[in-house]
Amino acid sequence: MLQFSFVRNFLFGLSVLLISSCGLEQSTRTEIDLLGTTCTVTVYARNPGPILEKGFTRVREIDRRMSYAGSESEVAAVNRNAGAEGVKVSSSTLDVVQRGLYFSELGKGSFDISIGPLVELWGIGKESTGRIPTGEEIEKAVLRIGYKRVQVKDNSVRLEDPGMAIDLGGIAKGYAADEIVRILEEEGVQHALINLGGNVYAHGKKPDGTLWRIGVQNPESNRGSYLGVLTVADRAVVTSGPYERYFIENGKRYHHILDPETGFPVENGVSSVTIVAENSMDADALSTLVFVRGVEKGLALVESLDGVEALLVTEEKELFTSSGIEAIFSITDDQFSL
Ligand code: ADP
Ligand code: MG
Repeated sequence: MLQFSFVRNFLFGLSVLLISSCGLEQSTRTEIDLLGTTCTVTVYARNPGPILEKGFTRVREIDRRMSYAGSESEVAAVNRNAGAEGVKVSSSTLDVVQRGLYFSELGKGSFDISIGPLVELWGIGKESTGRIPTGEEIEKAVLRIGYKRVQVKDNSVRLEDPGMAIDLGGIAKGYAADEIVRILEEEGVQHALINLGGNVYAHGKKPDGTLWRIGVQNPESNRGSYLGVLTVADRAVVTSGPYERYFIENGKRYHHILDPETGFPVENGVSSVTIVAENSMDADALSTLVFVRGVEKGLALVESLDGVEALLVTEEKELFTSSGIEAIFSITDDQFSL
């Protein structure tokens, strides 16, 4: 392999590597501040530049339409109209809202796309640091949550009551990853690795014919230190954990996965959930959903779904997994045990 060129500026990084044996170039592009996170895509193709451009253009479009705020956001428009008439949205946003409602129902409200008022109240992960809300504020926000009061009709989304707000932060990154995969398939790309802020998708196998090895982050350690490895092809691997977005007050950590019932960050001893599934949107929603439900109920739900596997890490450094994970997972850090 030969290093071909390397370019980096403020907005994105791009690196191209020529794999001489099969005429494919390996090209990686990174953009920060996209979907509220860092997005990296590596493709192996004859002419990767335009393919990456097409993929990132689509992700930017999804970001514009589905971000919580923003002048062109369809989500923001729906929320502004809460309690009034429905708002027409693009078929993309409609797809994500509908799948989000499906998982809200499946998780009996532990995952709920109408969590907006609570996310806004806690402000975790936003530029201005979050704060602990008062009991009264939490009560008020919790009453505004309820996916059953989100109506989808024709091409529009309507929130029944004023003050309600949808937030697609727990599912939109997954949709974006699936959209990149769709574009890669259209372009005939056979090998690629996508990582949209922890939403990883391994497309095909590696160019050398072996499976991708995806590290599972040690939730108690620095980014990039792994507790184990998943070996996969054509699979989404999505991890949700409280260690990426949080604030600390009086020595206590308040993180961004919220329990719609209590109105507080989930505290159930789970420190991360990794989902392996065929598509990233489902894996994304499920990683958040299983996190909220906890070890027992979360795993029971995963076992009832076809083609989905889960790996939960607890604060006690114990691992709990679904039955099919053994074939694809190995522990690399012996502090952790099954
Ligand atoms: P990350 O965004 O760090 O990958 P997740 O996929 O778990 O993590 O999504 C967390 C985001 O989902 C939060 O930032 C918030 O926007 C939203 N969210 C938080 N709690 C819930 C919940 N119970 N149901 C649905 N969405 C949630
Ligand atoms: Mg998620």
